[in-house]
Amino acid sequence: MSERLPCQTPGCTGSILPATAQRTGGICMPCQQRKLAEQRQAYIEQNRKEINRYAGVEDRVEILTIMHSPQKPDPLIREVPYPQTEQELYHELTVEERERMESYAVQLLEEEEVDQAETILLSLVCYTDTRLGPGLESFLRTGNYYPAILYKDADAVIRDRLIAQVETDPGNRNHLLLALAWIGDEEVVRLFAQWRQSPPAWASALYIAPEMYAREAGWELDAGGGKRLLIHPECYPFKVYKEEIAEAPRTPAAVTALQTGAASCPWCGGGLTVLFDYDLQHPLLQFMKLPGKRLRIAACMHCNCYGTVFMNVDLEGGYAWSDYNVVPEYLPDNNGGPASPAWHVMQLSEQPVGTYESAHWTLEALASQIGGHPAWIQDADYPACPCCSQTMTFTAQMDMEQAEDSEGIYYAFLCSDCLITAVNYQQT
Ligand SMILES: [Zn+2]
Ligand SMILES: [Zn+2]
Ligand SMILES: [Zn+2]
Repeated sequence: MSERLPCQTPGCTGSILPATAQRTGGICMPCQQRKLAEQRQAYIEQNRKEINRYAGVEDRVEILTIMHSPQKPDPLIREVPYPQTEQELYHELTVEERERMESYAVQLLEEEEVDQAETILLSLVCYTDTRLGPGLESFLRTGNYYPAILYKDADAVIRDRLIAQVETDPGNRNHLLLALAWIGDEEVVRLFAQWRQSPPAWASALYIAPEMYAREAGWELDAGGGKRLLIHPECYPFKVYKEEIAEAPRTPAAVTALQTGAASCPWCGGGLTVLFDYDLQHPLLQFMKLPGKRLRIAACMHCNCYGTVFMNVDLEGGYAWSDYNVVPEYLPDNNGGPASPAWHVMQLSEQPVGTYESAHWTLEALASQIGGHPAWIQDADYPACPCCSQTMTFTAQMDMEQAEDSEGIYYAFLCSDCLITAVNYQQT
């Protein structure tokens, strides 16, 4: 057995076989690997080229086409990012430009570039509220029913095709029902009510009753078989203000996010958090049709990750732990919780955005907002009011990626008849 030699790197305590020393010039394998990685990194830094794929391109459709085209990662290339986000560009598209984007999606579907086409169609639906025409027909023709939100507001021809197919195509039934829920026109509402009255034979093979699919699209059947919205179409996003702007003078906001509450959580002993504090007399909030002065929706940021938390509220800003709360089956110790949460300063924009901007997770739109459609990470989960059993209305959500660079979304709901709020939480 040959004698081991010490590694020649200063400070390294490793030892090596003479054969290795001959190959590496006297250093151990970990040191050798590190040296090679450093050389590689230095080479990349010296030879990396900046490439601006947008240089000289002014047409918005062309810019978006470049943004949507997949890029092979190359360490020797540093891409100059476009100064606007996809979402911002979509907001600026004219009707004619939207049609060109939709035509481009059709072309991509013909070339079997389904993922790219899907992203474009989703962006058109969520960011610009476009009612898809040829793009959706191509999507359907290629046998694609998901994401179902693409079928939002689809015309009667497509609707009737889906209604016929749902009877005969058990393999796609789940997606077809979701698509019908997103169409949600009078005929679909009538059909869902009919199914509630007399469930079709195939309904027993589903996890939920067919009419319950409506919730994924933000509505449900009311007692009389009509359409009841579970959301507010009006939507205002929160923006994060980084430290340098946090000092800027701020006008009184319609809704203030994330304040430390006064009471503590009876389950874990941690402090409650007022997720949303509504100034109900603010003009921007008149769509909520709440008569009082102030609505505060509180939660336990810890316990809420394991179950729904209800609060009794008044419209004067008061809130109290509800007797209806049931301790979740699994509730780990909070250990007192973090000493002081490091939330960013969030400010409500007074510029409304579309109802469905954050409704589909693959678009990765930031989701902190009041009103609009929830950005469900899992299945739709509207709590039933524990007092009157009505499904509660979605009022706001806090995206923790925005609020503190962590993950998950807190969703807030209200039963305005019983004055009970609910908060639940989802994560990937
Ligand atoms: Zn070494
Ligand atoms: Zn708690
Ligand atoms: Zn109620």
